[in-house]
Amino acid sequence: MQDKLTLMIPGPTPVPEKVLRALGKHPIGHRSKEFQAIVSHTSEQLKWLHQTNEDVLTITGSGTAAMEAGIINTLSHGDKVLCGDNGKFGERWVKVAKAFGLEVEVIKAKWGKPLDPEKFQKALVEDKNKKIQAVILTHSETSTGVINDLQTISKYVQAHGKAITITDCVTSMGACNVPMDQWGLDVVASGSQKGYMIPPGLSFLAMSKRAWEAQKRSNLPKFYLDLNAYQKAAYKNSNPFTPAVNLYFALEAALNMLQEEGLESIYKRHYRHQKATQAGMKAMGLSLFAEEGYGSPAITAVAPENIDAEELRKAVKEKFDILLAGGQDHLKGKVFRIGHLGFISDRDVLTAVASIESTLQSLNLLNNKMGAGMAATAAKLQQLE
Ligand SMILES: *Cc1c(COP(=O)(O)O)cnc(C)c1O
Repeated sequence: MQDKLTLMIPGPTPVPEKVLRALGKHPIGHRSKEFQAIVSHTSEQLKWLHQTNEDVLTITGSGTAAMEAGIINTLSHGDKVLCGDNGKFGERWVKVAKAFGLEVEVIKAKWGKPLDPEKFQKALVEDKNKKIQAVILTHSETSTGVINDLQTISKYVQAHGKAITITDCVTSMGACNVPMDQWGLDVVASGSQKGYMIPPGLSFLAMSKRAWEAQKRSNLPKFYLDLNAYQKAAYKNSNPFTPAVNLYFALEAALNMLQEEGLESIYKRHYRHQKATQAGMKAMGLSLFAEEGYGSPAITAVAPENIDAEELRKAVKEKFDILLAGGQDHLKGKVFRIGHLGFISDRDVLTAVASIESTLQSLNLLNNKMGAGMAATAAKLQQLE
């Protein structure tokens, strides 16, 4: 059937009708009063979402643009940084840092495991000469469905006194609690096609006062992503370059919806969907990839034993038009991932679980009783009502 695709990948995520309609309006001039009003309003809304008093800047570019901007605006040639790496996006941080000639010490954890905060603490305490300028990590590691303990790591960084945190919050912002000011986070990057419920194309960057201090010293090359220009323009509710005007319409509409829902409800919705998905998979006899207790609110990675995860994923798409994500790199064929991020309802979660269960049965791969996964998902949704 045409136009019936359901996205259950970790971005792009489904977009509400209201937001699509906002997107479909005729563009307006980006230096007009009308557009300034939208920039002013969305800036306030973004502060609300980030739970911060600092400016949240909007960049036209995907999430990686905000990640790169965070690095090149706060660091200088040859700076030493600690980089957390427990998946594909941790690896990306290492690549960006190396691309700009930083001295990178990598703190690794096996894929599926969370980063160990004590390893960060040890490296920071041993850094007597205060050489470490930044601690860079991913909050929700989308490739493995693991959430890292950002709050604890941030505490250790603050105790160091010199280093700042630079964090990829791309699949945690708008999915779980990320109180930027309360946790003392310094650089927070996120992207529009995730919890924001709008299409890809915008990214967001918030920086603490400490990060803005670092920005003054930073000497890495930059032009399009020079945040000085973005901040200056932001004071006039404007942008240094032509922004994705229609995506701003969508952003305002989506943030209106999120504000109506409220932060607590948004986090609860993601938590329920995460738990209900996990319960469904376990009841079907499928193993979860992320270590128990460290599942991401945005995405559940499933590692079915003796089943080709790619075959299953493709069959679900073929039969039900539900797009699941595959495993990346060495996890290809071993893992499939269910996105429950953004504009996802109980119905979507129930349908996804039922579709996976039905597909397994039709492939003769279902070990448990048909309907057990669905029943567990429905029960968990009710229990966490
Ligand atoms: C999606 C995602 C990004 C951003 O990727 P882009 O393709 O540049 O938007 C970054 N980090 C994580 C954890 C993500 O899930």
